Order: sequence, then C-alpha cells, then structure tokens
Amino acid sequence: MGRVAGKIALVTGAARGLGEAIACMLAREGATVVLADLDEKAGKRIQRKIKAEGGNATFSLLDVTSEENWARCMAMINRRFGEFHILVNCAGINVGRSFPSDTTLSDWRRVISVNLDGTFLGTKHAVALMSKGTPVNGSIINISSVMGLVGFAGIGPYSASKGGVRLYSKSVAISCAEKMLNIRVNSVHPGFIETQLLRQGMKSIEDPVEAERIYNALQPVGHLGEPDDIAYGVLYLASDESKFVTGTELIIDGGYTAR
Ligand code: NAD
Repeated sequence: MGRVAGKIALVTGAARGLGEAIACMLAREGATVVLADLDEKAGKRIQRKIKAEGGNATFSLLDVTSEENWARCMAMINRRFGEFHILVNCAGINVGRSFPSDTTLSDWRRVISVNLDGTFLGTKHAVALMSKGTPVNGSIINISSVMGLVGFAGIGPYSASKGGVRLYSKSVAISCAEKMLNIRVNSVHPGFIETQLLRQGMKSIEDPVEAERIYNALQPVGHLGEPDDIAYGVLYLASDESKFVTGTELIIDGGYTAR
C-alpha cells in the first residue's frame, strides 16, 4: 500500500478496461486520480467506486484528440492540486480488420488521431505542467501494444499508431533527461487482455468457443491476460521504485512476443 502516495495522476480512457484497472490500482496505492474519458456516465461510476473504497478520484470529460480539452484539463489540475506527477495515456481505439488495399483513409486517420495524436497532446501538455515551478518526479506512461512491436495482419492503422507511440515515448524520454527535468517516459506493451476492445476483435471469428480457443492459444501461457496484469506494470513505472527507468518498453504479454 502507498506506493504512489501523495501523487497526482491522470489516466485517460479510465472509464473501462485497462484504464479503469490502472486508475483503481493507482488510487488504492495512494494517488489522487483524475479519470479522463469521453464516457462521462461510466467515468463517474468509476469515480464513485474509488471513493467508496476510500480513495481520491475526480472525473474530467476529455477527448484526447482535442488540444483545447487537454489545455482545459491541465489548467484544472494546476488550479486544484498545484502539482502533477503521473500521466497514463491509455485511451485507444481500433477499427475492424481490413486488407491494406481496402483500408480507408478515414479509418486510418481516426485510429492515428486517438492513439497517436492523443498520446502526443497529453505528453506535450503534461511535460509543460510537470516542468513548471518546483520540479517534480514526473512519470509519463504511454500504453502501446505488442502490435507496436510485431506485425499482425489486417490492423495496419492500429500497428502504425502503436509503433509510433513506442518511439515517440523514447524521443521524449531523452529530451526530458537531457534537460535534467526528472520526467521519465516509458511505454507499456500489453498482449491480449480481457476487455471490451478485445471482445470486439474476437467477434471476427463466428464461433465464440473457437474464438476463445484461438485467442488463448496465442499466448505460450495458454490464456488471456487480466487488466490488473497491466495495472501492476504501470504502478511500478508510476512509482519512484522505477526512478532509473526511462525510454524503455515494458512488455506484458504472457510470452506472445517471445516466440
Ligand atoms: P476499451 O475499449 O475497453 O477502453 C477504452 C477507453 O478509452 C473507453 O473508456 C473509451 O471511452 C476511451 N476513449 C476512446 N476514445 C477516446 C477519446 N478520444 N478520448 C478519451 N477517451 C477515449 O479498451 P482497452 O482494451 O481497455 O484498451 C486500453 C488501451 O490499451 C488502448 O490504448 C489499447 O490500444 C491498449 N491495448 C489493449 C489491449 C487489449 O488486449 N485489451 C492490448 C494491447 C493494448
């Protein structure tokens, strides 16, 4: 308990799935968490859940693709808390699988906009706030994917966005280190984790029993991951336990990329 006690954290995509698990984990470990998402109803439900468990959380309506939304959210954090320590860029989307010659420019732009532009905007505004006034131990954690490390057919825009998140994180990590800013930046690469996003992808296989078997077999460990498997990794990167860790990539995938 208390591994991120006293820290102010913002998690995007916090209304469900991995973002929800990460936000709840950080709150359980003592952080005050700003839950940012497009889904206000679900986000406020998570806020109530965290509060009922004795944690501190507030909801902020945020579209990660809007720079204006980011500026407003950061101004709120500055006004309300005066400090900012942890950003987790977790909001992400995928679209249905398509062959490259059938992939539309609008699908490409939608995925790049949320997954890559959103990560860029959040990181940009977080670095500005974290380096303002008294320096803090800042940690920015960008949720990429194993699909940002290895290829997978039919998801070109998603892979491109997640590969971009990986190298963008490394570039910002070096920029901040060279300026002695004490802001660490790392990417996390989940494998196949049981969430709504994954369930949607599994629907491309008609028979649900067969889909379950195929997806489980993707991992050498023989099963899907749970959201908390990712949240524990994020907690480490968010805490001062990882003070020498920057510009790296944490893969949590049940061995998927080890083969
Ligand atoms: P999810 O679909 O369950 O949840 C995504 C959340 O992001 C939702 O609450 C949604 O409202 C929010 N969101 C979407 N667009 C937004 C926007 N423009 N602004 C603000 N919020 C927005 O997805 P998930 O499975 O929890 O995935 C979370 C992250 O983890 C994504 O970046 C995803 O690419 C990544 N990831 C997931 C898996 C997996 O297997 N589930 C694997 C690798 C990486």
